[in-house]
Amino acid sequence: MAPPHHPATRAARAPGTPDPTMGGLVPPVYPSTTYVRGSDGSYPGGHSYSRDENPTLDPAEDLLASLEGGSDALLLASGMAAATALLDALPAGSHVVAPRRMYWTIRRWLEELRDRGRVALTVVDNVDDDAFAAAVADAAPGGGPRPPVTLAWLETPSNPMGDVVDLAGRARTAHAAGALVVADSTVATPVHTRPVEHGVDVVFHSATKQLNGHGDVLAGALVRRPADGGSLDGVLDELWDGTRHQRAYRGGVLGPFEAWLLLRGMRTLYLRVPRASASALAVARAAEGHPAVARVLYPGLEDHPGHAVARRQMDGGFGMVVSLRLAGGADAARRVAARLELFADATSLGSTESLVEHRAPVEGEGTPVPDDLLRLAVGLEDPDDLVADVRRALDGETT
Ligand code: PLP
Repeated sequence: MAPPHHPATRAARAPGTPDPTMGGLVPPVYPSTTYVRGSDGSYPGGHSYSRDENPTLDPAEDLLASLEGGSDALLLASGMAAATALLDALPAGSHVVAPRRMYWTIRRWLEELRDRGRVALTVVDNVDDDAFAAAVADAAPGGGPRPPVTLAWLETPSNPMGDVVDLAGRARTAHAAGALVVADSTVATPVHTRPVEHGVDVVFHSATKQLNGHGDVLAGALVRRPADGGSLDGVLDELWDGTRHQRAYRGGVLGPFEAWLLLRGMRTLYLRVPRASASALAVARAAEGHPAVARVLYPGLEDHPGHAVARRQMDGGFGMVVSLRLAGGADAARRVAARLELFADATSLGSTESLVEHRAPVEGEGTPVPDDLLRLAVGLEDPDDLVADVRRALDGETT
């Protein structure tokens, strides 16, 4: 059998095409919410009702699972729908270990689950390996009808602080303690990192970002690793089935039109992601050493504390999020954001157009993000134009 094609080839050619009905090279959209049973009660196409699953999702899920090296994928109506479905599928009394600097709304959700007594939550510094090992070794406290799970949530590079963790090292530590590992790989995308290759059990994406890449779809994705015959397979199977059940019961499934747009976006993933990451590196280098900037947080820079690990586990780029800490504090951050012309002052990341956000006020009280931080989400404009825009906005602080 021929070896599987390069991921870029698989992405460019949608799975399941030509479509068997009309021969189309673009998969069809199935808006139908319901499907006719055969006389024996079975469903000829394998689909019954679109809250469970819709055939339009199949090629998008198959492609993402294949790009990540997973055995199955689930698409949901947003990144948060995916994260909450997975976390709510944990048996009562489970233990979640989460990093201090991570996507803020997921942290908030974990705190809500803790406050409602659903899970125990241990927050550890992103880059403290010893604290992580101690936290995962603390067995799940117990209390529910199903055996509780210990789950480590990782995010690398983290949004917006750019922390990098060694996925393989963390997965080894967690698995030795009997814990499952989920990695939010939104910023890396499968183009740069495939967490399953590093031992991660479930990969999480806000597909709203670069997977779709055009700022016009809200979506979330989960990919599970193939069974490896190890002792955690059963725990993972239960969590995966539970997550699918949460999706169906709460109605968080991705709509067919969104799934179709997401697949269209993913077909150009391997052109868009390297381009945005290369531009982000150019922007980071332009900001580095500028007198208006106290620090650039970008794992592609050689002096970033996570650079060596990022080089090892990221192929061909370091993501499109560059955060700047302004020497002049929060006021300078606001002024620089206002001076930028090509970076729209808007939340989110991973679209064609570049965005900027003064992040701390958005996250609010208790955020670990410093008030002098500006998050740049680099898009697909000409890199020289972006660099010139950032230089001009920063120069405004010093001239
Ligand atoms: N994870 C990361 C790293 C994110 O940046 C976001 C959104 O900004 C999410 C998760 C949540 O995804 P969504 O907005 O699609 O619900």
